[in-house]
Amino acid sequence: SGTLFIVATPIGNLEDMTYRAVRTLAQVDLIAAEDTRHSLKLLNHFNISKPLTSYFDHNQQFKGERILNALRQGKSVALISDAGTPCVSDPGYHLVRDAVAEGISVVPIPGCSAAITAISVSGLPSDTFTFAGFPPSRQGKRRGFLVKVTDLPGTLVLYEAPHRLEETLQDILHVLGERQVVVARELTKIYEECIRGTVSEVMASVAKGKVRGEVVILIAPGEPVQEETEPLDKTLHRLLYEEQLS
Ligand code: SAM
Repeated sequence: SGTLFIVATPIGNLEDMTYRAVRTLAQVDLIAAEDTRHSLKLLNHFNISKPLTSYFDHNQQFKGERILNALRQGKSVALISDAGTPCVSDPGYHLVRDAVAEGISVVPIPGCSAAITAISVSGLPSDTFTFAGFPPSRQGKRRGFLVKVTDLPGTLVLYEAPHRLEETLQDILHVLGERQVVVARELTKIYEECIRGTVSEVMASVAKGKVRGEVVILIAPGEPVQEETEPLDKTLHRLLYEEQLS
């Protein structure tokens, strides 16, 4: 059978396309795109002309079968989404799962993802972070979602639609309290900007100028609960001597 390539594309700046992504898209038999009209612009920019088929949430079942058939016939297929890495808050998961189940080889062509791009410049703790995707759009569910992630270690990374940014920040303040946050907007584009501060401070600057464009919200971990701790020299003494003796 053929190979399914999962190809990352830029999240704004076309120079973030990798050489390997261009070569792969130019070599496959078929490109499956979330939105073919949107992706045509990218493909034209790189002079790539290939058969295109759409693959998005609503037709996953149907088009998935067509793409799998092409793979079964030995054709190579590349999956791209509108921006960034397919399957990361984007269609692709069902196709990859089904291809894996059939023993079809799935090859990543890595590149941009807004979540990783945002964490890299956030200045927030980044060894451990949780990417939680889009919060629910209704307030009740969104608050419930935030309650569940309150005690996760490390920084929390969320995607959000620009018109819901203010209400989501309000809920973050309500549920998680006054934490440090970063709103990374329009990454890799002309109006790229990181708005940093406490939730209230960021809300104030968001309210001032209308925040347009795409945003990633990053929330710093909460303060660890202070526990009674014994002094370090005492701990060492206990571990080295007392526990050995007993
Ligand atoms: N698959 C993409 C990725 O790997 O980043 C994510 C797709 S998701 C449908 C779109 C969301 O990603 C936006 O609502 C926004 O939260 C975030 N996003 C995408 N591009 C961005 C950019 N240039 N700057 C900031 N956030 C971006």
